[in-house]
Amino acid sequence: MITVEEAEKIIFAQITDYGAEIIPFEMALGRVLAEDIKADRDLPPFDRVTMDGIAVNYEAIQGGISTFRIKTTQAAGDSPIDIEEPHECIEIMTGAILPSTADTVIRYEDLELRAGLATLVTNEIKKGQNIHYKGNDKKQHDVVAGIGSVITPALIGLIASVGETELRVKKLPKIAVLSSGNELVEVADTPSPYQIRRSNGYTVAAVLKQHGIDAAVLHIPDDPEVIKRQLKTCIENYDVILLSGGVSMGKFDYIPKALEELQVEMLFHKVKQRPGKPFWFGKHPKGLLVFAFPGNPVATFMCLHRYFLPWLQATTGIKAKPQQYAVLNNRISFHHPLKYFAQVKLHHNQYCQLMASPVEGNGSGDFANLADTDAFIELPLEKNEFKRGEVFKIWRF
Ligand code: AMP
Ligand code: MG
Repeated sequence: MITVEEAEKIIFAQITDYGAEIIPFEMALGRVLAEDIKADRDLPPFDRVTMDGIAVNYEAIQGGISTFRIKTTQAAGDSPIDIEEPHECIEIMTGAILPSTADTVIRYEDLELRAGLATLVTNEIKKGQNIHYKGNDKKQHDVVAGIGSVITPALIGLIASVGETELRVKKLPKIAVLSSGNELVEVADTPSPYQIRRSNGYTVAAVLKQHGIDAAVLHIPDDPEVIKRQLKTCIENYDVILLSGGVSMGKFDYIPKALEELQVEMLFHKVKQRPGKPFWFGKHPKGLLVFAFPGNPVATFMCLHRYFLPWLQATTGIKAKPQQYAVLNNRISFHHPLKYFAQVKLHHNQYCQLMASPVEGNGSGDFANLADTDAFIELPLEKNEFKRGEVFKIWRF
C-alpha cells in the first residue's frame, strides 16, 4: 500500500493539457486565459474629469480671477466644449472629457454658484487637480490580463472595458461522475428499509460546478456486464471518470477488474489513509484518467478535495494556492498505520491563529458531519498522538 504522498506524486505526474477554446467573456469567470488580453486604446482613453464642478484654465486663477462665468454644462459622454475667455468656465461632470482649453477641475464643494457665476471659496487649488489623465493606467496595446491569469470579477470588468467579447481560455476536462451500488436508489424514490438514496454523485457534481465544470452524473449497478458496458461508453466520451464505490474488497466490488479489462492501467490501488483507503487510480492508453473513490461519502469527499481538485487546478494552469495550516484545538489519538484525515471546524482565536476543532462524529462514515465542518486536517502517518497546539495541513471544503 502506498502513502498519501506517493499517491499524490503519481496523480501529479498525470497533469494534462486539454487545449484551449473560445468562449464569451461573460461566461469566463474562474477560467484560465490562454491568450494575452491587450488594451485596444489608452486607459483612461481621454483626460477624464473625476469630480462634479467646473473646468477652468489654471492661468486664470494665477492671474487673480476667482469668479467665473459658466459658459455651459458638459455631461459625461458629451463632446468637449472649449472656454474662450480666462474668466469663463464649463460646468462639468465626473466622467466627462476635459476640454483642451481647460487644465484644472474645481469641485462643487469648493464653489459658490449663483446667477450663472461660480466663485471660489478656497485658496487651495492645484493645477491639474481632479483629472485622471489619458493612458495613466494602461497604454494602448499594454497587456491588461496575461496568459495564465485566472479570470476574476475584476478582470471581467477590465476585459469588458477593452472591448474583448470572446476569450481564448484553457479547456476543462470532460468529466463523467459515476456512482455504483445496488443498495442505492434515486433521490426521489422511497428506499426500502435496507436501501439508501444516492448522494455521492450529487456532491461530486456540485463541487465540480464550483470549479466551472458541468459533469454528467450516472449510476451503475453492481453488475459486471453493465459496469463494463457503461464504463466503455464513458471511456470513449470523457477525459476523466470520477467513480464512487465498488473498489473495496467486497464480493460485488467489480470496478477495478472491469477497468483493467477495458485497458485502463492501474497506477495505484489503496492508500495508507482513513477515510479512503481503497482509492483506485488509473489511466487509459488514450489519456483518460480514472479516479475511483471508495463509496463512503466522507471518503469520496476527502479524496476529491485532497487529490482531484489539486490535480484539476494544476491541469487548468491555476497556480497552486499556498498550503493552508491550522492549529489543532483538541488532542486526537489515532492508532492505525494510516494517515488520518479528521473533520474539523475552523475559527480564528484572539491572536488570529486559525484553530481546528475536531468534530469526531461516528467515524469516517458519518457524512452528516460534513455539513457542520469546514475542513479535513491531515495528521501525519508517523504519529499516533496529536496534541493540542500542534500545527497540521488542512484541506478546506
Ligand atoms: P462501497 O465503496 O461501494 O463499498 O461503498 C461504501 C459505503 O458507501 C456503502 O455503505 C455504500 O452504501 C455507501 N455509498 C456508496 N456509494 C454511495 C453513494 N453514491 N451515495 C451514498 N452512499 C454511497
Ligand atoms: Mg458498493
